[in-house]
Amino acid sequence: MDPTRIEHYRQRLLAMREELEAFAETRADSSSTVELDQTRQGRLSRMDALQGQAMAKAGEERARAGLRRIAAALARCDTGDFGECLECGDPIAEKRLDFDPSVGLCIQCAQAREE
Ligand SMILES: [Zn+2]
Repeated sequence: MDPTRIEHYRQRLLAMREELEAFAETRADSSSTVELDQTRQGRLSRMDALQGQAMAKAGEERARAGLRRIAAALARCDTGDFGECLECGDPIAEKRLDFDPSVGLCIQCAQAREE
């Protein structure tokens, strides 16, 4: 891929990483507040709190998985492999990269993996 295109995607990946890191920090704050909140004694509010925590945890895991994908994509920017499918080596459609620059598979390989 053209180095100026790679640079364009690198900037987007860096912005995505910043957003996810900010999100992960907010989540860490809110899940600790739930635990320390001694005023929530009722059974229902406890269930709410647990549910909230589970959701926060799922969100955190998604954010962590996203950060891993972004880190791998940034590494591919450095080696010049960015935009090539990890599985078959074909170029990944730019439309697909515009939607999510952290994808590592072309549409065919992504679909094959889902089936
Ligand atoms: Zn492929």
